[in-house]
Amino acid sequence: MRTGDGVFVVCEPNAASTWFPSSDHPADKAAYDIRIKAPRGLTAVSNGRLVSTYDKGGSTYTHWRESKPMATYLATATIGKFDVRTGRTPGGIPIYVAVDPALKNAGSVDVYGVTAAVTDHWSRVFGPYPFEETGAIVDDMPQAGFSLEVQSKPAYSAVRDESTIVHELAHQWFGDSVSVAQWKDIWLNEGFATYAQWLWAEHRGTRSAHDSFLAGYRARPADSPFWQIKVGDPQRDTMFASAVYQRGAMTLQMLRERIGDPAFFTLLPAWTKRYRYGNADTADFIRLAERVSGRQLDDLFDTWLFTPGKPAL
Ligand SMILES: [Zn+2]
Repeated sequence: MRTGDGVFVVCEPNAASTWFPSSDHPADKAAYDIRIKAPRGLTAVSNGRLVSTYDKGGSTYTHWRESKPMATYLATATIGKFDVRTGRTPGGIPIYVAVDPALKNAGSVDVYGVTAAVTDHWSRVFGPYPFEETGAIVDDMPQAGFSLEVQSKPAYSAVRDESTIVHELAHQWFGDSVSVAQWKDIWLNEGFATYAQWLWAEHRGTRSAHDSFLAGYRARPADSPFWQIKVGDPQRDTMFASAVYQRGAMTLQMLRERIGDPAFFTLLPAWTKRYRYGNADTADFIRLAERVSGRQLDDLFDTWLFTPGKPAL
């Protein structure tokens, strides 16, 4: 997407093939070297770590390297005027945050500070941070109206709130490192990233995940079309429906209440470790949840992921 000073590049689910030749499916992951030639003076931001940048003639040449496997839709080559701040999180992870200077006075969120704190927090809850760098690309593209979990540096089309940053960073584990085997497994990305927002509110003492669950459950009457979407098998036009996010997160809260906190918080890092840098599907998750908890769980997942209608509590 063209911006006032360059281009904002986000590709989910299938726009990567519009700018580089690719087998554009999340199961075909690869390491990347991305070289960008841009008009001199502009900053080009991509995945992984910055290898080099130099000016020659009227151009700026920038080389980024993503050494970990990456799905095509998580690639970016965003170009524009950016204020860049780099360093390390308190936990020691390199961080690169690029903010469009046009947004200097927009919003009150400290993107750098929140990104650092949340990356460190999720590293404790979900397992070691899977990539070489964390960060953010905050561009001035409000018409885009969304954000995306670009690998190693989520892309935001404006200054977004803390909860959005929490969501996109959770995807670094759920979606980027452990990627869906097929798009119909998308709740493994969105249900988990939404649940991470509930966990963050619980961590901050704002609201328990149980109360977030109840609020979402009670807000939607039984005859709402929300309950008709099969979260575990969405169709092309419903793969990003709110049910995939919200009912997906509800599924995880139901799982947590069934198996208890010790098993649930053992399962999350076990999942990100077992399938790190690879692909997995819903059956893999159910199998691991059963193994970690020692319980039979297919009734729970059948009800919450594969049966239309509002489940009874
Ligand atoms: Zn998401």
